[in-house]
Amino acid sequence: GHKRRPLIAGNWKMNGLKIAGARTLGQVIEGYDAALRAKADLLVCPPAPLLYTFAAASIGSGVAIGAQTCHPAASGACTGEISAEMLADAGASAVIVGHSERRSYNGETDADVRARAEAARRAGLTPIVCVGETREERDAGRALDVVGAQLAGSVPDGEGALIVAYEPVWAIGTGLTPTVADVAEVHAFMRAELRKRFGAAFADGVRLLYGGSVKPANAAELMAVEDVDGALVGGASLVAADFLAIAAGC
Ligand code: PEP
Repeated sequence: GHKRRPLIAGNWKMNGLKIAGARTLGQVIEGYDAALRAKADLLVCPPAPLLYTFAAASIGSGVAIGAQTCHPAASGACTGEISAEMLADAGASAVIVGHSERRSYNGETDADVRARAEAARRAGLTPIVCVGETREERDAGRALDVVGAQLAGSVPDGEGALIVAYEPVWAIGTGLTPTVADVAEVHAFMRAELRKRFGAAFADGVRLLYGGSVKPANAAELMAVEDVDGALVGGASLVAADFLAIAAGC
């Protein structure tokens, strides 16, 4: 049995259009049967233009809808940006912050990620804070240092809503995954770091997701790892049957 209720979160990234996306969401909702509900929570994070219709379509289904980033401010002169309040207004209940693609392509620092996580809490959303080392950092034996620094810098103070996703950069979209032992090491380390900072009562309730090339074929062994409380799924979340099969591996 799991110590925390597993969460399988799908990060659609910049994929999914109105018609095909609605079909995929419909298949996820239809497939989220009693057996799967007994195992895991589901969260679908589509591109922002789909949030409102997805949230409306998922009412009563048990499938939650989330966003992929948010701006730190609540409103203002920030052309093109979307605030956490707007995401909540559209029906999101969670938001991914600090995904490695945003850290690298958009130059988001730990402080930026933390500000976004704080904005999420302010708006009543659960932030899913992403951390993870590069291949070079792992090869240099620095994975725990890097993850520890990102956690310290990206997770807000206070015992608010929080989910953390460990996503080794080199495992995202590559078909590569760390060994189960390496995942276990990083997740145990993250839990220990959160305990030091927040105490056990809080840290033991935080869900720690693994992300990076999770597929139906490897989900069960990854989800069985102590301190792995679910998955953040990119590519495989675009195919409803695969997303559901990953949840079935919990
Ligand atoms: C991600 O980008 O969050 C991710 C885990 O991608 P993938 O599953 O495609 O590796």
